[in-house]
Amino acid sequence: MSVIYHDEIEIEDFDFDEVTETYHYPCPCGDRFEITKEELSMGEEVATCPSCSLVIKVIYNKEDFFEEEAPAMKIVKEKKKITN
Ligand SMILES: [Zn+2]
Repeated sequence: MSVIYHDEIEIEDFDFDEVTETYHYPCPCGDRFEITKEELSMGEEVATCPSCSLVIKVIYNKEDFFEEEAPAMKIVKEKKKITN
């Protein structure tokens, strides 16, 4: 599965809302792309716009956000071995 990014933006260019801990970046549709600090800490790098289908890739140093192990980052285990 491949995602087509509208653009790639460095995290420094985002606006950070300290109340919601969400990073914002203007979307061409007039709304804003958003990605939360929590999502970044989980390794998420796709900021989405709530008003359209565009997505952008966030360029950032993951180590800056990996303060702790992210418990929410659960890898779905699909180890269903079918025996023939
Ligand atoms: Zn948009």
